[in-house]
Order: sequence, then C-alpha cells, then structure tokens
Amino acid sequence: MYCPKCKAENFSKDGTVNGRSQYSCAVCGFNVTIPVVPKSENADKKREVLILYFAGYDIDDIVLLSRLEQEVVIRLINEVTL
Ligand SMILES: [Zn+2]
Repeated sequence: MYCPKCKAENFSKDGTVNGRSQYSCAVCGFNVTIPVVPKSENADKKREVLILYFAGYDIDDIVLLSRLEQEVVIRLINEVTL
C-alpha cells in the first residue's frame, strides 16, 4: 500500500483508534483513520478506497486509482459515511 499524498511505500497500519484503523506514512507524516473493513473479498481494495476518500480524493480519481466500478466505490463510501 502506498501513501495517497506522497506515494511512498512506507504507508502502514499504525494501530486502531475507537474501532477505526489508523494508517500513517513514515515519509511525509500523513495519517488517516478509516472504519475497519470487514474481512471479505476485495477487503484490501475497499480499504484503499476509504483511505483515498478520507485523504480528500474525488470519486473519479478513486475509481481510476482503485480500478473498481464507480458504483462499487460510491456504495462503499455511502456504507461508511451514512
Ligand atoms: Zn506520505
């Protein structure tokens, strides 16, 4: 997994805060907390989508970066933000 800000590969899970996973970048210090993604098919992709979303990316950018259907991306974001 890479950092959505600086693209460094040192972006890693940094523990859990209030039931959310915290990720941080060792290079630029960017950190983000996202809801824990239940283990399922595509769990890694879903986590990536949420990280990009909470990093401030547009839906269109997330679709391009994750290579998931736009519909899937929107549904996933709605699931965790509604
Ligand atoms: Zn970074």
